[in-house]
Amino acid sequence: MIKAHKIRLHPTPEQAVYFAKAAGTARFVWNWALAEWNRQYEAGKKPTALKLKKQFNEIRREHFPWTWEVTKNASDQPFLDIAKAFTAFFEGKARRPRFKSKKRSKPSFYLANDQFEVGDHRVWVPKLGWVNMAENLRFVGKVTGARMTRTADWWFVSITVELPDELPNSRPAAVGIDVGLNRLATLSTGEGYENQAFLKTALKKLRQANKRLHRRKPGSKNREKARRQVARLHYRITCMRDDVLHKMTTKLANGYGIIGIETLNLKGLLKNRRLARSFSDASLGKLLTLLTSKVQQRGGHVIKVGRFFPSSKTCHCCGWKWETMTLEDRIFVCQNPSCPYDQFPQDRDHNAGQNILREALHLIGVIDQVVTDIGSGDDVNLAADAG
Ligand SMILES: [Zn+2]
Repeated sequence: MIKAHKIRLHPTPEQAVYFAKAAGTARFVWNWALAEWNRQYEAGKKPTALKLKKQFNEIRREHFPWTWEVTKNASDQPFLDIAKAFTAFFEGKARRPRFKSKKRSKPSFYLANDQFEVGDHRVWVPKLGWVNMAENLRFVGKVTGARMTRTADWWFVSITVELPDELPNSRPAAVGIDVGLNRLATLSTGEGYENQAFLKTALKKLRQANKRLHRRKPGSKNREKARRQVARLHYRITCMRDDVLHKMTTKLANGYGIIGIETLNLKGLLKNRRLARSFSDASLGKLLTLLTSKVQQRGGHVIKVGRFFPSSKTCHCCGWKWETMTLEDRIFVCQNPSCPYDQFPQDRDHNAGQNILREALHLIGVIDQVVTDIGSGDDVNLAADAG
């Protein structure tokens, strides 16, 4: 399994200049290779990474001698990247590779595993030397490569490490998770993860900064200052949110071997603008990705429950359905007189979490082991209701 650790760098001003130069070289070579690829492709030829690189090297000394000022990877890697991008495009997995712009594209360059060295709080870069890292590499394993990127005003190195696959251990504990707006996540155990309140403050600041940005004259120095502030705030908010998601998913993956979670139709929800803010903040997509990767690494399973499954409207105990339930109804009250939960107020999300767990277990065929607490005899087939 490949894991990446992204570490903030503390380059000296001279080192930052080198980074910018290397990223500029990588962008230039990418654009050169892309133009050449397109030209040859239209002429009916079959360009490859190797052929293009050879072609580039033939004219390099004469036309682009400055590309030697930085690590050779800055002018090697884009050829491989472009070939990969085209493969993904032809397989329908990605859109057509596009030219990189100095303004819009994220500056970055790659370092192959034999081109750099990781030391104590520092990384060695060819033709530059040691650059200070904010923290040490978290993983122990075979280092496979690194990519330097700039986000907002900071440089980062993302180091990929190959780790031995952990042996799956049997942890029977299962949990269902209801993700939502009011609470980021509610477990079938009743435990909840609040939607980060601190985000509200940060978002207010972001809105103010955005307003300031749009009041500044285009092209002015103050506008550039404001733009950088907005970028920094964006980055901070992403960090805060990711921190919450990482801690939560690690805890879940450590505690449970089977995790049921609803796959939500994010695109559909984003149509509603009021919901959009909270939803993009909670970044459910990221949650799902992190959770899946961590649970699988520990040998567990994430079971996705379809979004048409009526997890909120159904009583987790008897299967009675509250057809007219709305988003505003925060408390679920079962109206089935033969249900032990009849008229008993249940938290909406807690009830949903329990339904998701039940459906997840049903999907993998272990439902019988846990329905013991269901109680009433008229056990409803939830899968049939899922449609
Ligand atoms: Zn009930």
